[in-house]
Amino acid sequence: MHKTLIILKPDCMKQKHVGAVIGRFEAAGFRIIGCKLMQLTPALLREHYAHVADKPFYPRLEAFMSSAPVMVMAIAGDYVVETVRAVLGPTDSTKAPKGTIRGDFGTDVTINVVHASDGEESAKVELARFFAPGEIIDPGKTAVLS
Ligand code: UDP
Ligand code: MG
Repeated sequence: MHKTLIILKPDCMKQKHVGAVIGRFEAAGFRIIGCKLMQLTPALLREHYAHVADKPFYPRLEAFMSSAPVMVMAIAGDYVVETVRAVLGPTDSTKAPKGTIRGDFGTDVTINVVHASDGEESAKVELARFFAPGEIIDPGKTAVLS
């Protein structure tokens, strides 16, 4: 089973696009295996965004990402990492095609709705960064009583 880390960013939370965004992941066939609200700290953001921490845009990114609670999710399914990146669209919302999450709901290159891991290796590292082992539960293994 493939897994990826998703963060619904402060703009997604404030503009109430949470349901729409999760709906797109579910429509693509993926299931939620972990979910919680977090207030991200500068220290955690510096670790998560280490690959851009020395860029000129980093202070604005950190201010944005710590401006409100975010929803951190683990989702699972076949080829979830690359499929979610495609559904999300490119980093710059102004260049993202309509029909993608960033194209439909994003504001600019920083305020872009959702974080998603960019590969299987980074997904593993990022899932471990945001979730303790017991916080990820595969409902696919649980019988549905109805
Ligand atoms: N970012 C930015 N300016 C840039 C590039 C990236 O503000 O020129 C922000 C943006 O919020 C992006 C995050 O930094 O989502 C991480 O950058 P990355 O290149 O990993 O983009 P992503 O994987 O999120 O598409
Ligand atoms: Mg990235």
